[in-house]
Amino acid sequence: MNVISSIGELVEGTLFIDTHEHLIEESRRLAWRGQEATVPPFDGWMPLFLGYQRNDWPYLFLQYALDDLQSAGMTSEQTYKVFGLSRDEVSSRDKWRIIEPYFQKTKNTGFIQALRITFRELFDEEEIYEGSVERVDRKMEKLVQKGFYKKVLHDYAGVESAQVNALDAVFYETEYPELLYQDLSFVAMSTELDLAIAEPAGIEPATIDDWYSVIDWHFETYGPRAIALKNQSAYVRRLNYMPVSKNEAAPLFTRLAVGETLSEAGREALGNHLFNYCLHKAADYKLPVKLHTGYYAGVNYMPLDRLRHNAGDLCPVIQAHPNVKFVLMHIGYPYQDEYIALAKHFSNVYIDLCWAWIINPAACSRFLKEALLAAPASKFFAFGGDYVSIETIVGHARLAREGITRVLSELVTEGYFSEQDALDTALRIMRGNALDVFDFEETLAAWH
Ligand SMILES: [Zn+2]
Repeated sequence: MNVISSIGELVEGTLFIDTHEHLIEESRRLAWRGQEATVPPFDGWMPLFLGYQRNDWPYLFLQYALDDLQSAGMTSEQTYKVFGLSRDEVSSRDKWRIIEPYFQKTKNTGFIQALRITFRELFDEEEIYEGSVERVDRKMEKLVQKGFYKKVLHDYAGVESAQVNALDAVFYETEYPELLYQDLSFVAMSTELDLAIAEPAGIEPATIDDWYSVIDWHFETYGPRAIALKNQSAYVRRLNYMPVSKNEAAPLFTRLAVGETLSEAGREALGNHLFNYCLHKAADYKLPVKLHTGYYAGVNYMPLDRLRHNAGDLCPVIQAHPNVKFVLMHIGYPYQDEYIALAKHFSNVYIDLCWAWIINPAACSRFLKEALLAAPASKFFAFGGDYVSIETIVGHARLAREGITRVLSELVTEGYFSEQDALDTALRIMRGNALDVFDFEETLAAWH
């Protein structure tokens, strides 16, 4: 057997421990069955993919294929016709006719290639085209049955379990804790304060001490059942969470609590203080902290000038919290070289390749190859689909498997790795590292 086929076979036959998805609960998908006329709220991309309520082929485009269609010129009016109107108003075929010219311009990208693979591997359709879309509507209706999440993950995507970051809640009380491990999102507790999260804690926050109690309540309630913490404040600010004292933060919080609007500097200072407070909680609860770094989902708003500082901004934060394991997501694309340096230098830094295989499959391969020659192989998690829809994970997992196989084969043929090194590394990055870093057993035990 040659090297490539033995590596390929191992990668093909190994289940990923998927470290990042945004999967909504399966029961929500089941509730959409037959809801032909539901029109989602249409107000930019974020509410759209969270508000969409139909199990049909356009749903599969919402994240992230739509970004590339829009980048290639698809207008908001066209977007509204496809995603905002029901099939009674615009037929499935007519929706495809709107998308088709943009699909032709974008079928080369990782986002769209992943979707084409999903059409092939999950729906047995060679291509996305006028003739296949209505069939896929029917196949999706048929697929969406109790238990289909497990079926798609295990049987089609080759994923053993996924870690879910709820986008519209702090934490999902999942029906399937052994399949869908949950992150505890601390965005609303720290960087984009949402006073409404005090309500379930039964606290009316007036002072910073009250707010500590709100945070503490969330950690007590969800911490033991959470697999990690998650924060994506890189979408709204720099990641230089410098220490800010309680004395400085307390009056800022008091003003915020009575409805005053803080200046940007004030918001940032309060965010710094509360972010660091949460990192101390992370250490107490032994929860790895996942941080968004690099590229943005969506179109027409990304401030690269800010993103390019992500890696450097994090150095003092990483150093200030040696007992916290930091998981930096998406390889910080397009600044991925810096993340190899972080993984190599800091013993408490891990890099997650989630989302990166579809943002730019070639860059992700390059990253993995260089990373595996520079930093300990124990520092990398190879796969997270980063999707709200379960179906699309299939295509992304395929691109990831192809990339991993290609990279490890190159490392062998170029003489860097022995074949055994390559096989060991595949198992590590696909699952072993995640099993070492995240406490699956304790977390699952806390659900029962
Ligand atoms: Zn994500």
